[in-house]
Amino acid sequence: MSGIFVPYAKPKLTLEERVTMSAEAALEDQQHVSALDVLMRMGLLPPSAVDMWRKGRFPFLEERIQGSPEKVGRSLEIFRQWAESRGLQPVEARYVRTTREGDQELQFTDVRYPGLEQAFRSHYVSPKLSERRKQSVEKKITKSPERVVFFPKRDAVCSECGVELDLLSMEGGQPLCMACAGLGGLEFLPSGDTALTRRATKYSEKRAVVVEFSRSRKRYERQGILVTEAAIRQAEEECADDAPERALQRERAAVARQKEDVVFVEEMGAKIHVLFPRCPQDEVREIARHTALRGSGRVGRSEAGRKLDSKAATLAVIAAVRHRHTKYDELLAKGADRVDARAAVQARIEEILDRWGML
Ligand SMILES: [Zn+2]
Repeated sequence: MSGIFVPYAKPKLTLEERVTMSAEAALEDQQHVSALDVLMRMGLLPPSAVDMWRKGRFPFLEERIQGSPEKVGRSLEIFRQWAESRGLQPVEARYVRTTREGDQELQFTDVRYPGLEQAFRSHYVSPKLSERRKQSVEKKITKSPERVVFFPKRDAVCSECGVELDLLSMEGGQPLCMACAGLGGLEFLPSGDTALTRRATKYSEKRAVVVEFSRSRKRYERQGILVTEAAIRQAEEECADDAPERALQRERAAVARQKEDVVFVEEMGAKIHVLFPRCPQDEVREIARHTALRGSGRVGRSEAGRKLDSKAATLAVIAAVRHRHTKYDELLAKGADRVDARAAVQARIEEILDRWGML
């Protein structure tokens, strides 16, 4: 020890570190990563700017990228090298805005980044994905987006013809009616029948997705599609033709899922038995069935639970003991705070786990 006082200085990350850390984080988060993701995570590009650009408010995204062209250019190069060293293959994404005049390709660069247009468009898909998932992500990246129209939340009129709107299309920040948006004469097909929707979408050259804002979920939710009447008719005919076949397929899928569930409950039970060898067999079965219930969102359905992870199985047992062998639910019903109620029954849970021979 030299005994010299070294003042603590926050270590500054190099550009290389910032780029590669941003890329890794995005890839981990969303299973694919683009140059845009990296620039946004590095703080060089506000997400709101990307939003506006996608809506066509200004022509070239480069206007809103912060940092010198040298730094941004270097970042893109580091990103490319990172992807190469990870063995990732680039997919060129389509950045398209759908307008009444048709698809409009969005431009990244004008004068500031000559020759880098393609670098901006590169996406890389996680190698961890299965071949099928990889293909579906690539398809999503490269297809043109659907036109989206809205059920208006309050009274609004078309900014061009002044008609009162029952459906609204946003273009350049202005509301348009379906006719002015070039979507006149289309029929609304509500969501619900997946096969019908899929087919009608396929047969309708002109179409849009209809969404509505859900206040409770705080997001836009799909309500149906706008398609031609002819497309709906053709889709209906095809659906009627193969309805029995599809019913059979659905039935088979349901049976397969049921079998899968039975196997999973058994495996979960076996896992619990290993972890708690003195837990009575009927309790084991009940806990396994409860936690493994499809659609329940319980720990048995979590990713760790499905892999029969010991911690997940233990959590399932603890939850079961809490509800079945303690006064926890009673305390909650009396208005106790969750944290307090949990603390109050902790000793009792440990006693039972001990008795069941927790490993
Ligand atoms: Zn109009």
